[in-house]
Amino acid sequence: MQCPPLKITFLGTGTSSGVPMIGCDCAVCSSPDKKDKRLRSSILVESANTTIVVDTTPDFRYQMLRANIKKLDAVLFTHPHKDHIAGLDDVRAFNFFQKKPMDIYANSLTEESIKHEFAYAFTDKKYPGIPNLNLVTIDESPFRIGDIPVIPILVWHLKMPVFGFRFGRFTYITDANRIDDDEKEKIKGSDAMVLNALRKEKHISHFTLDEAVALVQELQVPKAYFTHISHQLGRHEEINADLPNGIELAWDGLQLQEEKFTG
Ligand SMILES: [Zn+2]
Ligand SMILES: [Zn+2]
Ligand SMILES: [Zn+2]
Repeated sequence: MQCPPLKITFLGTGTSSGVPMIGCDCAVCSSPDKKDKRLRSSILVESANTTIVVDTTPDFRYQMLRANIKKLDAVLFTHPHKDHIAGLDDVRAFNFFQKKPMDIYANSLTEESIKHEFAYAFTDKKYPGIPNLNLVTIDESPFRIGDIPVIPILVWHLKMPVFGFRFGRFTYITDANRIDDDEKEKIKGSDAMVLNALRKEKHISHFTLDEAVALVQELQVPKAYFTHISHQLGRHEEINADLPNGIELAWDGLQLQEEKFTG
């Protein structure tokens, strides 16, 4: 599928508690470096005429304001954990200005959670002003949002299936700690990828920094950015300096705009 040139914006790069974490005065949480301030993980994927957000975090409203997003065509969900869906109510503003429902692309597991957590948006008699959501159920089949082709990639978050997504030659994966071999094939050939790397110590449902580095090297993707970062990982500047060539920590506000993300 042809993919137009894309611009990727990191709206948030933090783990579920965000960085700084409430009540914590560790070296990372008290760092003055803006790259150590991480809202919950989400990206914006834009072509010249289509804008998609991946996940609506608890910080969604502020992420839209901070990145000055005036138009949004669709929300694409990775999985139903709270740090990835909590901000969905605030798509109301886009409903109001765009005068249409928001297209919500999610697998059936995530859809069930959305219907449960935001039950008021799915009742017969709707209170005025509630979010207007158009649920589109996705599985592993490729699809298209506007002019952007999307290939779902099934990854594992302990025992929960999570969707990563490939857009042209760019791949976004968060909240994984295992990827099956046939799904890895879908990632190969990407010019750039995003992968979650929580911290250095082992975790039951997230890749560690070393595991994430090893996977990028195995897949031979030339450029990789790590996200869903915990305060336990360490300060951006120090950790980033030690990473192999071609691999860096993402940070809030980082934009990737490369002609080579065409496919
Ligand atoms: Zn998460
Ligand atoms: Zn801390
Ligand atoms: Zn999760």
